[in-house]
Amino acid sequence: MKNDKILTIYNFCDSCKYILSEHGDDLEWLNKIKPIREGKIGYCFLCGQPILNEVNPFEKDLDLLESALNNPNIKVVCFTAPSVRVALGDEFNMEAGAFVQGKMVSALKNLGFHAVFDMNSAADFTIMEEANEFCERLKNGGPLPMFTSCCPGWVNYATNVCKDYIKNLSTAKSPQQMFGALINEYYAKNNNIKSGELFVVSIVPCLAKKLELRESSNVSVGYDVDVAITTKELATYLKYKGIDFASLPDSDFDDFFGTASGAGAIFGNTGGVMEAVLRTLGDTLTNKKQRKLDYNMVRGLDGIRRASVKMGDRELHLAVVMGLRNLPVIFKELETQPHKYDFVEVMACEGGCIGGPGQPNVLGLSKEEVLRKRASGLYAGEKNRLERKAHKNPAVIKIYKEFLDGVGSEKAKKLLHRTYNID
Ligand code: SF4
Repeated sequence: MKNDKILTIYNFCDSCKYILSEHGDDLEWLNKIKPIREGKIGYCFLCGQPILNEVNPFEKDLDLLESALNNPNIKVVCFTAPSVRVALGDEFNMEAGAFVQGKMVSALKNLGFHAVFDMNSAADFTIMEEANEFCERLKNGGPLPMFTSCCPGWVNYATNVCKDYIKNLSTAKSPQQMFGALINEYYAKNNNIKSGELFVVSIVPCLAKKLELRESSNVSVGYDVDVAITTKELATYLKYKGIDFASLPDSDFDDFFGTASGAGAIFGNTGGVMEAVLRTLGDTLTNKKQRKLDYNMVRGLDGIRRASVKMGDRELHLAVVMGLRNLPVIFKELETQPHKYDFVEVMACEGGCIGGPGQPNVLGLSKEEVLRKRASGLYAGEKNRLERKAHKNPAVIKIYKEFLDGVGSEKAKKLLHRTYNID
């Protein structure tokens, strides 16, 4: 009864309620949680999925965007998450999963953005910091397994439900948080843009990303990212503006941050973060360039994928968890075999970000068919990249050298890592 009451008060989606009910009477932590905004909450507290028949607390976000774009004294820049480019076309009757990166950039430029960046570039920095952190943990004896930290739905869950594992969460910020910090601290300063003259927008696959903006910002006033807009919201705005998306020509991202590697490009798929980090770990742990790029054993749509891979003198034991409802299985394994895994990727949504709740629904196709098409779009898109490993990306190498003082440096830790609030 007590749990039922708590679950009602705090608004959780059915998937998260299922997970929480698995914890039985261990739900005392919920008593300590205060809703982030007063009044009705229109999203799931854990994963950020919208809950039917509730008020959406972010309904003004498009108004914020519109007024920033209309303000001649403000430079509005944006960056788009890896998964948006294989979902946005679904809103414009294009083939499900179509890779519409070029049209998406054109559409954003037509809206009046001063610059349009690729969040895949920031994913490359996440890979670098996460791989480096993992190597340090291996060297220092843990804590292992290391859990990925780029999904705010999962991070919310970890920091509120399973506090024993907070020490296992990577401290690397998500690509959204990293890009916010780099745009404010590196891009703006190199382009003589004062803080009050810059408005940063992210285009993202879920509402959990909107909640994430309030954490670990580097700017002194407000947040690194001013507003996050979902794929569906962007589609709504483009239609409102009368932009004929399907007939737009292709445009390129602005190149201040260079071109992202293929590793950054696959972040939007479940298993993509793990595979991207493995490409860098392979070279680092063996001290030589590995030809292997595709880690097919961590791809796919099974709720849990387990794999072992030999790197140097070390056999790494890995797990990829897709959907929060599959987590209790891993936790039960860790209770009896705490060293069963070295590295675990967790994404809250089915399919990873390509299946996020801010992504369009596709009529006439099953959810699994849509996810497969979107995943194929991302894997196909990354094969054309000049570099498919984050640490080989010349822009990443340059920014670490010129600005960040190297991977894992004090400056990189300050800008690209975070701490966790546990109360
Ligand atoms: S998996 Fe991606 S879309 Fe889903 S909650 Fe996490 S960050 Fe958002």
